[in-house]
Amino acid sequence: MTNTTTIYAPATGFGRAAVSVIRITGPASRDVIQRLAGNLPPVRRLSLRTLKDPEGDVLDQALVAWMPGPGTFTGEDMAELHLHGGLAVREAVLRALAAIPDCQPAEAGAFSRRAFLSGRLDLTEAEGIADLIDAETEAQRRQALRQLDGVLGRQVSDWRTRLIDLLAGVEAALDFSDEGDVDDTALDAALYRDARTLRDEIARSLADGRRGERVREGYVVVLAGPPNAGKSTLLNALSRREAAIVSASPGTTRDVIEVRCDLGGLPVILIDTAGLRDTDDPIEAEGIRRTRARMAQADLVLMLQAADVERDGSVDGRPTDEVPQTPVTIAVRTKQDMAAPGDPRLDHDGLRVSALTGVGLEDLMGFVEARAAESLAGGDALVTRERHRLGLTRCREHLDRLLQGSALPELAAEDLRLAVRALGEVAGHVGVEEMLDRLFSGFCIGK
Ligand code: GDP
Repeated sequence: MTNTTTIYAPATGFGRAAVSVIRITGPASRDVIQRLAGNLPPVRRLSLRTLKDPEGDVLDQALVAWMPGPGTFTGEDMAELHLHGGLAVREAVLRALAAIPDCQPAEAGAFSRRAFLSGRLDLTEAEGIADLIDAETEAQRRQALRQLDGVLGRQVSDWRTRLIDLLAGVEAALDFSDEGDVDDTALDAALYRDARTLRDEIARSLADGRRGERVREGYVVVLAGPPNAGKSTLLNALSRREAAIVSASPGTTRDVIEVRCDLGGLPVILIDTAGLRDTDDPIEAEGIRRTRARMAQADLVLMLQAADVERDGSVDGRPTDEVPQTPVTIAVRTKQDMAAPGDPRLDHDGLRVSALTGVGLEDLMGFVEARAAESLAGGDALVTRERHRLGLTRCREHLDRLLQGSALPELAAEDLRLAVRALGEVAGHVGVEEMLDRLFSGFCIGK
């Protein structure tokens, strides 16, 4: 598919900076450079040029790169303008570009979309780019780079090629059986052996404890417990500890707070449940619904109880807040500064903290980090999104059906075709239009 329009966008952040890059891709890229820079610089060499608008007014002194396709990111002719990073400079150049016929501002993700459509990237690699841009921790950066490097794409493509070979074998058997010289009820034992090997490889990559998704989305820790247990105060205290915290942002409601941390390179999300309450406000109710959905997938629940409250069963028994059913719930005694010396409650053998004095906060974060590391240990995961998991699971199910099936070549061929299709969706070969819109609209402008 060839694009007739040429698109441009700032590729660097908004705001004042030393340099600001504008990217251009499409058939008019050469013309655009000639108009703005007066002539075409040598291919793939940054060259200093004076950029001028159509009236001949000087816009900037810039470094210009001219990169003819198809060996470019998008597969098309491309150019880059490395401008001085002032706001007015960038705006003036963008205005000059807008005045050029067939030249339009790019939508979010439009460059990567063109790269995908021209076959320069498969869908998993495009997702790797999106993840790399969003990566906040070392673990996320490494995982995204692996995916961009094609680790998942190559594996899926290898499985797909092997399935297509099996399918070709079955179809050949079908053709011959039309001619009446083979027994059409007996499929080759080798087919079953190979299909089983494939099925087992796919099943193994799915049995990864969702490590890849966890690295991408974060290890989710919920602070739960009765009102006044000190949930909000603890989260605030933790979020002021800058070494650990990447960003703290209010959730969709006033009270539900989520803090993203970088603990030893691992992404950890702490969620305060203090804001979960009955409400008539539809926006707040929606925020609470989302928080509850997130809590339902929590990896760890810290069940808080204040040291100045008698053990009333809230820690060990039914808590006041609704708590998700997760495998791991750990009791944490808060407000240790209020426990009198010699108080038997100090013997509580779980974690003890005081948000007021800071006692125990380091240990608490160390504990969470160790738990997160434990859950993410076990090597690099292949699957990093629910989308991959669904596609691979569908493929495995079709292979299961084949392996339990009646050995009729027609049915075997159909199971194999569906299995091939499921893998094709993962790599982006088939049936993905709607998914493309979703994926690429999540990219930055200029990517
Ligand atoms: P939540 O309802 O569980 O979110 O509890 P809050 O964080 O709102 O805390 C309830 C009350 O306990 C507030 O008045 C806090 O100031 C107080 N509080 C929280 N943490 C501590 C602590 O470590 N020590 C003391 N002395 N008071 C605390």
